Amino acid sequence: MKQRKILNLSNLIIRNINYNLIFILISTCLLITFTGCEVPRRKPLKPSIQATQPAIEERKESKTVEELKIPSTRTILIGIKGNYLKVTINSESKFIIKDINSSENIKIVSSGIHTVKTLKNKILIDNIKYTSPIRLVPEDPKTYLRVENRRYRGNIILRLNYRKKLTVINELGIEDYICGIMAKEVSPDWPIESLKAQAVVARTFAIKNLSKHSKDGFDLCSETHCQVYGSVESEDERSDKAVIDTAGEIITYDGKMISSFYHSNCGGRTEDIRKVWHDSDSKNPEFFTGVKCGYCEEDKWYNWTAALSFKTIYNKLRNSGYNVGEIKKIKIVGHTSSDRVEELLIEHTKGKLWLFSHKFRMAMNPNIIRSTNFKTKISKNTVYFTGHGWGHGVGMCQWGAKGMAAKGWNYKEILEHYYKGTKIEKD
Ligand SMILES: [Zn+2]
Ligand SMILES: [Zn+2]
Repeated sequence: MKQRKILNLSNLIIRNINYNLIFILISTCLLITFTGCEVPRRKPLKPSIQATQPAIEERKESKTVEELKIPSTRTILIGIKGNYLKVTINSESKFIIKDINSSENIKIVSSGIHTVKTLKNKILIDNIKYTSPIRLVPEDPKTYLRVENRRYRGNIILRLNYRKKLTVINELGIEDYICGIMAKEVSPDWPIESLKAQAVVARTFAIKNLSKHSKDGFDLCSETHCQVYGSVESEDERSDKAVIDTAGEIITYDGKMISSFYHSNCGGRTEDIRKVWHDSDSKNPEFFTGVKCGYCEEDKWYNWTAALSFKTIYNKLRNSGYNVGEIKKIKIVGHTSSDRVEELLIEHTKGKLWLFSHKFRMAMNPNIIRSTNFKTKISKNTVYFTGHGWGHGVGMCQWGAKGMAAKGWNYKEILEHYYKGTKIEKD
């Protein structure tokens, strides 16, 4: 089925393929100098610039990915397995083991199942030793390499980490990567304009955060820490179309790419970024200023409830490193302009703790306290929460984008609504 889809797409691709290879080589050079890093989606960090980045270093010599499902101007390195002693690689065609630094072929390996292990500071494939890192390239680029039986587009890179354990990295075109995350973020059944909006925010977020895992030898991980990536196995024809229709498009403000935070459901109004992470002394940027949504009521998490006993709250605060005594009282202190809780005052036997609501939510478990838009009622040493929405509330509301698309807004209008003052431009 997917193979047939590739053949259909190949008509679209084939005319541009030579240009694409040139683009890929140019982008490879551009990536060497790329140092962009801003606030990550779930946990804020200060911008960091690293002079030597192993992932980027490798790209200098990379021939990158031979066959792309969708033409891409960039390749991306996604960490799919970390700290492993053993993995199984299954190849549908012969594959070539290449030296990453010289790009020379080391060995051609037959198709079938191969066991990858480690021995001291070497990588063993079928008990033959290789020096880390190495790149595995399918001889027939139309076939897939499987890692633990999941199919991956492009190449696989194997490297040893500082503990001499395996890191498995998928090297592929960025558009193919976006196809592999769409269905993990939203349902492919959603209106096409909301899928396009999702493709643009996911692409912008990925490119803006390329150096997030540079110390690990790749760009982004495949978990919620970055963006959940499901490889070929989670691709879908409708969400693929949204990626193709918006290929290369990113969100900019004042000519610069933004770090396009997004969340599941805002609960009625999105939030100013500085009210969530409290890490900025400067004024709140226009594109991360909260807006009225009003399109996300359909989601089942638009309304939620939770109950936590004082004892549970005490344990969770202790586990998150807060030195509190037994909880005596919990009070909400102030609200933000989007009606979220600003701060909580927790009175305990050792004193008082003022905690920003986002930190409280993270300590309690963000899948239980789904947002900071809540009210509380206390009865018999238990706090009863009634709240709205799911997520931090910054940037695009995914359910709101769905609601807007259903009412006829196109993806550019949707993105302009959630990221005020921005433009959609080609990367
Ligand atoms: Zn990550
Ligand atoms: Zn919303």
